[in-house]
Amino acid sequence: MTSAPAYDPQNIFARILRGEIPCFKIYEDERAFAFLDIMPRAPGHALVIPKAPARNILDIAPDDLAHVAQVAQKVAKAGKAVFRADGITLMQFSEAAGGQEVFHLHMHVIPRVAGVPLKPAASIKEDMAVLAEHAERLSAALSA
Ligand code: AMP
Repeated sequence: MTSAPAYDPQNIFARILRGEIPCFKIYEDERAFAFLDIMPRAPGHALVIPKAPARNILDIAPDDLAHVAQVAQKVAKAGKAVFRADGITLMQFSEAAGGQEVFHLHMHVIPRVAGVPLKPAASIKEDMAVLAEHAERLSAALSA
């Protein structure tokens, strides 16, 4: 077993949080931030992250994790309504061996329609206009 490296403040989600890289934001509060995955595995695929630096499930403060889960629930309900989904898939990967590629904790929230398989992970970059439209609809549902 290897010990985890320290949190890297230059990871891409930390840079999104600092506003250094654009994203399709759908929700923000004092402790969490949510935006669309640019390579969605299904329409409305969102990522919920804590504002506090945390690499993954192994080092996040329990309160921050609880808050991320609460926001993931809001995003799940909005995604289900906006995309007329039948269900939701939640995913969280920790460390490379667990499938993690970006090392700032994120919870994937993916609306699912019955019988439609997920696209492969991080494979097809969605059209920016489509992401913008999805973000607008999700954002509106989340602020209603
Ligand atoms: P993972 O760390 O395995 O949970 O996956 C990281 C996820 O981040 C993948 O689903 C990528 O499509 C997504 N991703 C990578 N870069 C960006 C970005 N700049 N904006 C939004 N999503 C991203």
